[in-house]
Amino acid sequence: MPLRRCIGCRTVKSADEMVRICLTENDRLIASAESRGRGAWICKNEGCFNAASSKGKLARSLKAKLLPDVQKQLSSVYEELGF
Ligand SMILES: [Zn+2]
Repeated sequence: MPLRRCIGCRTVKSADEMVRICLTENDRLIASAESRGRGAWICKNEGCFNAASSKGKLARSLKAKLLPDVQKQLSSVYEELGF
């Protein structure tokens, strides 16, 4: 299993303990391991999702300008995943 760094806590873990967040063509955040383009990895826990949505970490990591409701989008991704 490849190792990835969480953008929330910056810990390196195996990818199966994490979720890859990508941006769709219409700038929505989704969890996808396969989607092309840049992805940002986040641990499967709420603390890291919260940390990732603050201070522009996700925008930096995806090298994209995110919609202002990034926090809301991320928490709905988190809820859909249902860890
Ligand atoms: Zn983390």
